[in-house]
Amino acid sequence: MSFKSFDCDVIVAGGGPTGLLTAFLCAEAGIEARVFEAQKDVALDLRATSFHPPTLDMLDAHGITDELIAQGIITTSWQVRLHPSGERAVFDLATIKGDVRHPFRLQCEQWRLQRVLVARIAKQDKASVEFGRRVTGFTQDSDGVTVTVEGGAQGTETLRARILVGADGLHSAVRQSAGIPFEGEAFPETTLVVTTTFPYDQYMEGIGIVCSCWTEKGNLAFLRLKDYWRLAVYLKEDRSIEEQITPEGVEAALQEVISVPEKYPVLRAWPYKVNQRIVPTYNVGRAVLVGDSAHVNSPAGALGLNGGIHEAFELVAALVDVLKHGAPLDRFDLYTRRRRPVVAEEILGQAKRNRNRMREKDPNERRRLLAELQAITSDPERHHAYVRKASMIDGLRMATAIT
Ligand SMILES: Cc1cc2nc3c(=O)[nH]c(=O)nc-3n(C[C@H](O)[C@H](O)[C@H](O)COP(=O)(O)OP(=O)(O)OC[C@H]3O[C@@H](n4cnc5c(N)ncnc54)[C@H](O)[C@@H]3O)c2cc1C
Repeated sequence: MSFKSFDCDVIVAGGGPTGLLTAFLCAEAGIEARVFEAQKDVALDLRATSFHPPTLDMLDAHGITDELIAQGIITTSWQVRLHPSGERAVFDLATIKGDVRHPFRLQCEQWRLQRVLVARIAKQDKASVEFGRRVTGFTQDSDGVTVTVEGGAQGTETLRARILVGADGLHSAVRQSAGIPFEGEAFPETTLVVTTTFPYDQYMEGIGIVCSCWTEKGNLAFLRLKDYWRLAVYLKEDRSIEEQITPEGVEAALQEVISVPEKYPVLRAWPYKVNQRIVPTYNVGRAVLVGDSAHVNSPAGALGLNGGIHEAFELVAALVDVLKHGAPLDRFDLYTRRRRPVVAEEILGQAKRNRNRMREKDPNERRRLLAELQAITSDPERHHAYVRKASMIDGLRMATAIT
């Protein structure tokens, strides 16, 4: 098939944050990209809310960071805390001011980034997003990919492109069609994301904006957003999940942390299961993965979306080499080699360690863990190293060093 018969350079399956960013960066680099998103619009899911410092630096190079900052709140620290005593270890992002241009975390819902990207793509000639259209499978040959897309006014269509990017999340159809295994495990726990306008800052002295918290009967994470708090409540494993996710169950979980006479003003509550998985390779020929289609992890540490964003930048560099500079397809090997070890250690490994620490139930062990963290924060060198790693700077440096 000749080049003229291609419908575009790149088809992107999935209009989540990583798919949209990939298409936007492609268009900026002069590569035509069409995104197909199964849902009818940007989903307002209660998912990622924290943008790490190097992510803000990267997005800033494309004028996106200020637009996000205007819609979120910034924090210069995060903490791990024992409740109700309030003893805590506070990590200070000012320690990395020599490493990044944005030494703070931004708290802002991921759908806001998606909306910014949809608006940016709408202004680009070389990129488009088609909502309500699902990629169902593909084949490939030496010249390109043939992709089946269903839904929308066009119905089922078969399109040709030079490269297919699978940015279609946990259940990726691209990954499955390519026969790439998704190795790992599903964690047993169910987490409940709850949003509420309850003023936790008036009840928990010095709580800050990002806080992982051990309570007497469990653990939870508090994340402040502009207009509400988002809590990740780890449900009890010895009680039925169904009972704990009813409005009464949610109320009881919140009352257990801070008991107040009035009912909690709950906005939304959403249970989810956590998987920890990663692919052995990011591509098979012309089909390449990015973001959650390639790896998923516990949200502890807020690493998943940030990792997907870093990956989109790395992937577009590879796409530019292949599509604009004539590099062979094994240029994607470098993409896998740069991303896979970093994701395995700095994202999956770190997220699992964060999750395991917060799942600790023994009060003595919790105190020991807290003392360990406090010792780190009181030693400037170790504090800097810890914040640099947790902010994903080490991972990015590791990736860049791989040639
Ligand atoms: C509760 C929770 C909290 C989180 N908090 C954080 C955080 O604070 N910081 C952080 O960095 N990460 C966090 N994460 C992880 C983060 O949400 C994900 O890593 C991120 O959404 C991945 O983006 P993505 O674009 O790769 O995949 P997704 O966001 O899953 O997007 C995939 C898109 O593809 C579409 N799709 C699926 N199949 C098809 C198909 N066949 N054809 C077309 N479209 C398709 C879907 O509709 C979806 O829109 C959190 C996750 C959860 C669950």
